[in-house]
Amino acid sequence: MTALFGLDLGGRRVVVAGAGHVASRRVRRFLAEGADIMVVAPEASDDVRRHAQHGDLEWRERGIVPSDLDDAWFVLAATDRPEVNDDVAAWAAERRVFCIDASDAAKGTARQAAASRHGDLVVGVVSTDKPDPARIRAVRDAVAAHIDAGEVDLRRRRAGQGRVILVGSGPGDPGLITVRGRQALAEADVVVTDRLGATELLVTVPYDVEVINVGKSPDTHPVPQDQINRILVEHALAGRTVVRLKGGDPFVFGRGGEEAHACIVAGVPVEVVPGVTSALSVPALAGIPVTQRGISTSVLVTSGHAGADAAAVAAMAAGATVVVLMGVAALPDIVAAGLAGGADAATPVAIIERGTTADERITRGTLSDIVRLSGETGVKPPAVIVIGDVARPELLASQAAATPARRE
Ligand code: SAH
Repeated sequence: MTALFGLDLGGRRVVVAGAGHVASRRVRRFLAEGADIMVVAPEASDDVRRHAQHGDLEWRERGIVPSDLDDAWFVLAATDRPEVNDDVAAWAAERRVFCIDASDAAKGTARQAAASRHGDLVVGVVSTDKPDPARIRAVRDAVAAHIDAGEVDLRRRRAGQGRVILVGSGPGDPGLITVRGRQALAEADVVVTDRLGATELLVTVPYDVEVINVGKSPDTHPVPQDQINRILVEHALAGRTVVRLKGGDPFVFGRGGEEAHACIVAGVPVEVVPGVTSALSVPALAGIPVTQRGISTSVLVTSGHAGADAAAVAAMAAGATVVVLMGVAALPDIVAAGLAGGADAATPVAIIERGTTADERITRGTLSDIVRLSGETGVKPPAVIVIGDVARPELLASQAAATPARRE
């Protein structure tokens, strides 16, 4: 009979006989588990040699002998010689140590599980019949995909300590959240959301998850920041897992730092799940690389809320790429400050509204005419403004992209 257990191999001696292809792959797994690994083999793959050189494991450069198993908690017999593997399995059995025999599962006392990790959950699949690794991996992959897609309710059933997870949802397209972000949503008892980002993801949370919208909508004022902080802390102190879903990346102009601080001060555990920031991704999806060899070697991301600060003016004047968030209202001030600071009036500018969504729109011009053009097209937030040569129309289709003008 085969039973599946979660073995804690952390710091425990695992002896691996052999250091070929199969052994190397398993060694990587044992390393990830934090095991104290000893490999015994006259020859080793490059991978095992490198790990030995880095001190990640001990490699005894010779054939295995029974006494090598004396301190083992677990043994893997994976040499390229079945009779050696069977011997190792027999020595392990004499010592009452579990052993996987890579050449004949029936001769070992343990079986390899196909496993995957999802936050604090580990999913494992074994078969009790003849080994068929591709088959158990296929089952593992199907379960893993289901979990990573956020289709499994991962909420904690047992009361425990509450916590806050600040999740960057990406710029809007629900496909641009991270796998960890998706998992966090599946763990949430409460989701605190606002207007920007991949709010479409909220349709997938179970009906009894409380969703609190603290964002601005046409007829309501946004909830003040200290009140948002209070909502996060209060729900977490009541033992809930609170996901704070934020547009883009939580720490790029999202006031995520203040929310994390409020949690830390209140003694609430807080995890940050980085997101794909609109500052880089919205230009990328509009065909604008924010850096490009020979065209721009620096990029400055700035808030345009209060116009252009000294750093933004200097960057515009130096020909760096400047990405402005929250800059629609102050665009005339930003352009005027750049020109007064010495920026070239012919510097290309692109304004991308509602990037990554079906309503995306791009307005292009230069520092000399973008204010007039954006007035004519009626540009509205949310929009990312890119100022710099990389915003030149058709850059990626032109010769400039292939042959840099100057060397770096
Ligand atoms: N934390 C977010 C930024 C929050 S500030 C991030 O990392 O993306 C809000 C500003 O982000 C908006 O005013 C706008 O400038 C920009 N923004 C966010 N999503 C956007 C989108 N889909 N299209 C264009 N701009 C966006």
